[in-house]
Amino acid sequence: MENHLVIAIDGPAASGKSSVARALARRLEILYVNTGAMYRAVTWHVVASGISSKDSEAVLKLLGETRIVCGVYEGQSNILINGADPNPYLLSEEVNANVSNIATIPEVRRQLVDLQRVYAVDFDNVMEGRDIGSAVFPETPYKFYIDASPEVRLMRRQRQGLQDSISARDRQDSSRRTSPLIIAEDAHVIDSSHLTIDGVVGEIIGRLKLKGLKILDCTSRIAA
Ligand code: C5P
Repeated sequence: MENHLVIAIDGPAASGKSSVARALARRLEILYVNTGAMYRAVTWHVVASGISSKDSEAVLKLLGETRIVCGVYEGQSNILINGADPNPYLLSEEVNANVSNIATIPEVRRQLVDLQRVYAVDFDNVMEGRDIGSAVFPETPYKFYIDASPEVRLMRRQRQGLQDSISARDRQDSSRRTSPLIIAEDAHVIDSSHLTIDGVVGEIIGRLKLKGLKILDCTSRIAA
């Protein structure tokens, strides 16, 4: 299967990777794919169905009866579960507390990774998650790992007014057996603790150019 361009952005919770990935995709005029939203959407469905996120057998039975449709809406990935839009609930406390349990179930990961790979069949994209460079698209030459100090990450979540035990999620995401959060060997690591979103995007674009990716800037576009 021939793939389009994939720029992989991984990192721990609240490292700023979503804002960076969204801004980078907008800057490059390509699709932004948020894979965390896919794990969150499944988690919302599991919790709303009254099933424990730790009961992998019941979770998989439910998934077998569930229609998951991934699409594109306003330049970014979008997911529908049995025709319902889970977006309003994705950042809820309940989803935060259960999503890492769901993400440890290998069969859930297999199904969602298949859906993630389909995006690259049709679209150049910036894909953000935990395992994009290491497991979903290990062959892409464009891999970034965005980090920030624990204090800065905690502060960012608090500023968003969200209840999220990010250190517990990070521990679980880094220690699971299937596709844990790791820094891919060939990823470029950026510490975003003291950088703005534009600063991180600028560093990524500089790196992409160094790797030979042709990126038009506004001035050359006007001149062309
Ligand atoms: O990125 P976000 O914080 O929304 O991700 C929510 C959770 O989804 C993560 O804590 C992790 O458990 C799971 N996840 C994952 N693999 C990805 C993206 C997210 O395991 N590629």
